[in-house]
Amino acid sequence: MTDTGQTDLTGRIVIVGAGHAGGSAAAFLRQYGWTGPITLLGEEPIAPYKRPPLSKAWLKGKADADSLALRPASFYIEQSIDLRLSAGVASVDAAARTVTLDHGGSISWDHLILAVGATARRLHIPGADLDGVLELRTAADAEKLKAALGPGKRLAVIGGGYVGLEAAASARALGAEAVVIEREPRVLARVACDTLSTFFQTYHQQKGVTFELDAGVEAFVGQDGHIGGVKLASGRVIDCDAALVGVGALPNESLARLAGCACDHGIVVDEATRTSVPGVYAIGDCTRRPLPLYGMMGRLESVPNALEQAKQVASLLCGRPAPPPETPWFWSDQYDIKLQIAGIPHHAVSIIVRGDPGSAKFAVFHLDAENRVQAVEAINAPPEFMAGRLLVGNRKPVAPDKLSDMSISMKEVAA
Ligand code: FAD
Repeated sequence: MTDTGQTDLTGRIVIVGAGHAGGSAAAFLRQYGWTGPITLLGEEPIAPYKRPPLSKAWLKGKADADSLALRPASFYIEQSIDLRLSAGVASVDAAARTVTLDHGGSISWDHLILAVGATARRLHIPGADLDGVLELRTAADAEKLKAALGPGKRLAVIGGGYVGLEAAASARALGAEAVVIEREPRVLARVACDTLSTFFQTYHQQKGVTFELDAGVEAFVGQDGHIGGVKLASGRVIDCDAALVGVGALPNESLARLAGCACDHGIVVDEATRTSVPGVYAIGDCTRRPLPLYGMMGRLESVPNALEQAKQVASLLCGRPAPPPETPWFWSDQYDIKLQIAGIPHHAVSIIVRGDPGSAKFAVFHLDAENRVQAVEAINAPPEFMAGRLLVGNRKPVAPDKLSDMSISMKEVAA
C-alpha cells in the first residue's frame, strides 16, 4: 500500500519456481495490473509446462512436446516477464530481501513468491542408484521412462497411487508389461475409497497389469549397473527392465526454511498465501494451506490448487478482493477411464454408490452425519462430478435414497 491507501503495483516481484503455480502467478499478476518487474526463476531448462500429460497422453505418444507448454514462449516477452531458465535459486535472505542463484549472482525483491513444487520421494534401499530405477516428476524424467517402454519391455511400478497407475496404463498402451508393487493391501489406499481401489485394480488386470499387494520392496537388483529386478520383502524377485518409483512427493521447503518461514510438511501459508515472513508468499505443491471447507490445514498436489493459489497471491499483491475459496478437485486418466474427484472425505461417515461399478460409469459420494456431500469420486460420470462439486461447496444436505437412484437426475438431487 502507498501513503494514499492505493496498492503499489510497481515493486519487484521474484517468483522462484517456473512450474504450474509460478508460471500462472506471473500471468495473473500481469492480468490484474502489476506494472513492476516480475522475474520468474526456474531451475529446469524449459519454460513452465503441464506435468499431468507426463504420465498420460504424452507418455503414450498422444501429445507432442509443444502441447505441454503452459503458454507460448512469446507470452513471457510480450508480458515483460523476465523468465530465466536453468536458474536454480540456492538461498534466500529475507532480511536483505535477496535471492542468490546457483550459478552466482543475486536478485533483490520487494515481494518473493516461492512456487518450488515438490520432489519425488526416493526409496533409500540397496540398488536405488542402478540405471533403470526411475522417477516421474519432470519432463526429463518422463523422457527416460518413455525410452524404457515398448513391446517386450517389463516395467515394475513401485507404488499404486495415481501416477503409478497412470504410468502402468501408458506402459500397456505402448505394449510393455507392467507390474504394480504396493505396500498396502489395496491400490490408491491413501487417496481413494475401497470401491474405487477395487474398480481400478480390476480394470488394470483386465488390461494385463499384474499386482503385488501387501508387498514391501527390499532392494533393486541388477547386473553391470542396470536394474534386472525388484526384490520384495518376501525374498521373491520380480524381473523387470525398468522400475518406476511412484511413492509420493515431498514438498520443497529448504528455501522457505532459509528465509525463516514456518514449515510443517509444507510451507505454512494462510488463505491468501502469506507465509510467516512478511513479503514472502508460497503457492502450489510446496504449501500446507488452509482448507476452509473442512476447517483444517492440508497439502494439495493438483493443478487446480496451483491455479487457485496463483490467483490468491496475484489478487493480494494487486489489491483485488480475495477470490472465493474453491472446492479442491483433481482428475486422473487411465485407459478410457476419466476419474474426477471433488472434495476431501475428511468428515464422511457414509458412502453412497450411484451407478454400477461394473459398467465403468458410476460415482461414489461421501456424506457426513448431516448427509452433506464431503467428496465425490466420479468414474466417467461428469454430471455426478459437477453436481457433487457444487454440493461439496454449498454444503446442502442431500437425500441418500435419491442420490443412489439413477432414475433421478443429479440436477434434481442437487436442487
Ligand atoms: P511444479 O509444477 O512441480 O513446479 C515447481 C517448479 O519449481 C519446478 O519446475 C522446479 O524445478 C522448480 N524449482 C524447485 N526448486 C527450485 C529452486 N530452488 N530454484 C528454481 N526453481 C526451483 N495434477 C492434477 O490436478 N491432475 C493430474 O492428472 C496430475 N497428474 C500428474 C502427473 C504427474 C506425472 C505429476 C508429476 C504431477 C501430476 N499432477 C496432477 C500434479 C500437478 O502437476 C502439480 O500439482 C502441479 O504441477 C503443481 O505445480 P507447482 O508449480 O506447485 O509445482
